[in-house]
Amino acid sequence: MKAPTAKELAVLERDERGCGYGPQIEVPSVHKLLHSLRPRDAFLVLGYTMEDICDSAKGFGFLFGQADLDKGVALFSFARYADGVPPQSPRFLRRCGMVLCHEATHCFGVRHCVYASCLMNGSNHLEESESRPFALCPVDLRKLQLTLDQAKVGGRDQPPIDLVARERSLIELFETHGLHEDARFSRLVVGSLTGQPEPEPKSSAGDADGSSKAAAPPTIVRQKSLKEQLEAQLEGVVISKPLVCRQPSGICAAVCEECPRDTAPPLKHLPSHDKGLLAKAYA
Ligand SMILES: [Zn+2]
Ligand SMILES: [Zn+2]
Repeated sequence: MKAPTAKELAVLERDERGCGYGPQIEVPSVHKLLHSLRPRDAFLVLGYTMEDICDSAKGFGFLFGQADLDKGVALFSFARYADGVPPQSPRFLRRCGMVLCHEATHCFGVRHCVYASCLMNGSNHLEESESRPFALCPVDLRKLQLTLDQAKVGGRDQPPIDLVARERSLIELFETHGLHEDARFSRLVVGSLTGQPEPEPKSSAGDADGSSKAAAPPTIVRQKSLKEQLEAQLEGVVISKPLVCRQPSGICAAVCEECPRDTAPPLKHLPSHDKGLLAKAYA
């Protein structure tokens, strides 16, 4: 994709007065620009900025982000996420990365998650959003996989999405940017997908904070396909810290230790807004 030129960025509509975080960019003008740059085969073009954003025409004095799914574009601002953390810190990167992934996943049609502790949990404040794992629960991962596979953005012959490769690139990203706890969680996910414990990085940079060495090695239990997990009850993955179950439906047994495992998850009890996509995901 062609990057926007300095000239194109300079002529974006702005509200110079702003709203406490410097001059603001008007979102519709950015959506228009991103749309004009969007390759034909792109599912979505997602822009982000450290400038504050607003949509004065619609009466929004400021916005964290806004998507226009008809145009296949979205814009997010991190101007208000730097409060209390240095913008060079891993924590700031984690905050922004999680917002970006959460919102991008919304654009793939996934709603707020009620199954387990998950990147897609709704949140009302920063503290709540930061307590989420930087990972999708098995239910939402399956939804994302389905959507990407069906979208076939790379053409009809595109191979199905490789979840193990995806997770390994996440591990690399997390390790590179000092997010060792997140990398450790992703190694558990790879372990459950492959049935083999995923080796720790050689440099063991994760021990800088002393926490990973102290923790007992995780027990990985061979996990079946997500469909099998859902239908049969699950042996489960033992994870490093107990995750809070949002809905004891049994569907989150893959990540939640508190869910009952002696009964098949009652699909009919799932929230109705989710049934369509979920039924397809597990068809
Ligand atoms: Zn959301
Ligand atoms: Zn989820």
